[in-house]
Amino acid sequence: MSNPVIVAIDGPSGTGKSSTSRAVAARLGLSYLDTGAMYRAMTWWMLSNGVDVSDTAAVAGHAGKPAIVSGTDPEAPSITVDGLDAAGPIRTQEVTDAVSAVSAVPEVRTRLVEIQRAVATAAPVGIVVEGRDIGTTVLPAATAKIYLTASPEARAARRSGELKGVQTVAETQAALVRRDAADSGRKTSPLARAEDAVEVDTTELTLEQVVERVVELVGEKRAAR
Ligand code: C5P
Repeated sequence: MSNPVIVAIDGPSGTGKSSTSRAVAARLGLSYLDTGAMYRAMTWWMLSNGVDVSDTAAVAGHAGKPAIVSGTDPEAPSITVDGLDAAGPIRTQEVTDAVSAVSAVPEVRTRLVEIQRAVATAAPVGIVVEGRDIGTTVLPAATAKIYLTASPEARAARRSGELKGVQTVAETQAALVRRDAADSGRKTSPLARAEDAVEVDTTELTLEQVVERVVELVGEKRAAR
């Protein structure tokens, strides 16, 4: 039997990472893991339990407490925290605004990376894992590593579409730039492209074109093993 295939998809938000990762996993019959959802789930738990997210020591002290469980079906991703469905609450603006502070805390990362590696290892056929540090830190031996980028304008336009008019495109763009700066500037495994990752600029591409390109790259890497 061939080794499970591991596809690492990293990049900032608004580049089409989630849609691409899910579609690639579905197309190739692989499992799917959204690591951003796990950082959001940790953040939601901190906010719900009155932990001050700007207090690094407090966040570190609570990092081991929530039980975070991710479903790995690309057609129906799910996430629970202490048995509660967290899919809705983790997408609120409050969580989005607080997640970079929580994800910068090393104890949070150690805990979640451990879960991420266990989920990836348990996937029977293989898995597509999306995030910010998958190719660099979580799964450096991945079969294929993709780094998605897009212009700030394209990213803001996509995110605004998802937020359905809650913010203007300019506000969304400013928030994205702030979150990128925090995620790229943190000390512990910042958002970064792995040296051996293939960069795909999605600015001018449709989702279908990006999926095609990634499926092709995975095929090439599998054949080369
Ligand atoms: O991908 P998404 O926008 O849902 O990620 C939310 C946040 O989780 C990011 O802004 C980042 O702070 C954090 N994150 C991370 N490492 C990952 C995935 C997400 O630090 N592998």
